[in-house]
Amino acid sequence: MRAQEQTYLLRARHVKRRHDVPLHSEAQDREPTLALAHLTYADSMQRDELVSWLDDYLDLAAFPDDPSLNGLQVEGSAEVHKVAVAVDCSLTTFEQAAEVGADMLITHHGLFWGTPLAVAGPHRKRLAYLLERDISLYAAHLPLDAHREVGNNWGLARLLGLDEPTPFGSWRGRTLGVAGVFPTPMSLRDLADLIERTLGEAVLVHAGGPIEVSRMGIVSGSAAGIVTEAAAAGLDTFLTGEPKHDHFYDPFELGVNALYAGHYMTETVGVKLLADELRDRFSLATEFVLLPTGL
Ligand SMILES: [Zn+2]
Repeated sequence: MRAQEQTYLLRARHVKRRHDVPLHSEAQDREPTLALAHLTYADSMQRDELVSWLDDYLDLAAFPDDPSLNGLQVEGSAEVHKVAVAVDCSLTTFEQAAEVGADMLITHHGLFWGTPLAVAGPHRKRLAYLLERDISLYAAHLPLDAHREVGNNWGLARLLGLDEPTPFGSWRGRTLGVAGVFPTPMSLRDLADLIERTLGEAVLVHAGGPIEVSRMGIVSGSAAGIVTEAAAAGLDTFLTGEPKHDHFYDPFELGVNALYAGHYMTETVGVKLLADELRDRFSLATEFVLLPTGL
């Protein structure tokens, strides 16, 4: 076992021990009979047809400034029988996608971020692994944060029971996140517990706002600076993934609670919802690859 793999497993066990969240694959979540049905009757689809449906459904064209090269990043086999979904790209992610028999992998964070990259070192190994096995790689970054049906933020708002969702959290003139109201106000502690139970990640609480909360904004991943926008919008709480040292004092001086539930875990929501959509719409077999970074 490589060191990288060991680290992942250690982190996964760490998460499980602390929050008692079972870490299993999405396939194991389903009823055994349903899993069998999917295995037996799952359809296949032409790669190009699936890619063009994804481009359109996720509205990639609306995010021309995204540093991520959204869309098909690596072209694999012409036919897709099974789609794996994951948050990040790594050799371990690719190995696990191959292990579950995926012909296509869809990730939130892809391999290409706007800077020319030599095909050497880990990048070469990752590309070679996919190409040798004919596995396609499709990336959807900001489009999968902002999407109202399968996006990280609107999806998380639904999971947490936020009502009256409205677009919130700007990035270069686009809105990525969502704000809403809890039907019943709750204590900040209960909200942190709810998020921990929902995502399976320890929540870091910077309690700059009231101890009873009802109005929250969400922007997944790394968006700590958007707490300023939360204050301007009259929200009492802001949820994102990663804390940022530069913004430590902001929630306290703005009078807003900042909750950090992990860059990784807040961005598992979108790829999982997208997998559900592919299963329901095209009867494709799908599998979520869980590799928490603990960050
Ligand atoms: Zn991210």
